[in-house]
Amino acid sequence: MKKLLLFDIDGTILNMKMGVSKNIFIDTFFDVYGQSISMEQMPRFSGNTDLQILNQMADALGLNRDIITEKVEDFWNLKLERFKQYCTEEYVHLIPGVDKLLESLKSNDEYELSLVTGNSIKNAFQKLSSYQLDRYFTDGAFGNDNSDRNLLPPIALERVNLRVGDTIFSQNNTIIIGDTNSDLLAAKTNKMKVMIIAKTEDYPTFQEQEADSLMSDFSDLDRFYNEMYRIYK
Ligand SMILES: [Mg+2]
Repeated sequence: MKKLLLFDIDGTILNMKMGVSKNIFIDTFFDVYGQSISMEQMPRFSGNTDLQILNQMADALGLNRDIITEKVEDFWNLKLERFKQYCTEEYVHLIPGVDKLLESLKSNDEYELSLVTGNSIKNAFQKLSSYQLDRYFTDGAFGNDNSDRNLLPPIALERVNLRVGDTIFSQNNTIIIGDTNSDLLAAKTNKMKVMIIAKTEDYPTFQEQEADSLMSDFSDLDRFYNEMYRIYK
């Protein structure tokens, strides 16, 4: 059975150096909306969609969320511009083995690749391009599609089916690969399988929440394929 793998980006494919993303959000928010927000007022980033982060920043400042929508395209564009200088090997670190894994998956007919990430689409491809990993992906569902991450997997599924010109992918052969509770929840909500990339000390928490597979990184490709096989046994 052919499988669709929906990859999250941050914490799953790569990590941005600590603090970079939050500072960019703070500076860009000020320039676009004219409001300053402190680091302490900033919402949690991991697992959160970009649109959700913006809405929560507005909430923290007591602003109406409507003001976000009005200038949201300006925000994405300026944020993208700012991120550019940080999309280098100095600021972006790959999860071990992910480049080899993507290369291997791309040439394997059993797998189709796509994205489900909280990043807005341009930002997603920009981050991936730091290591030319953008060439492995053409579509997905993104933080600018909806603020609710649970609604993103069906969007990605539909786009992939449209691209391949068939309806071969469904919740029955789609696996979300992520690193947070939000990825797990998005998978469970959509009755999809989920592989979580986590530190071994966090395994018990994810096991309790019935993650289908747990890996600490992708350095062991055989293990990855064994897990894929096991998930569908
Ligand atoms: Mg993540």
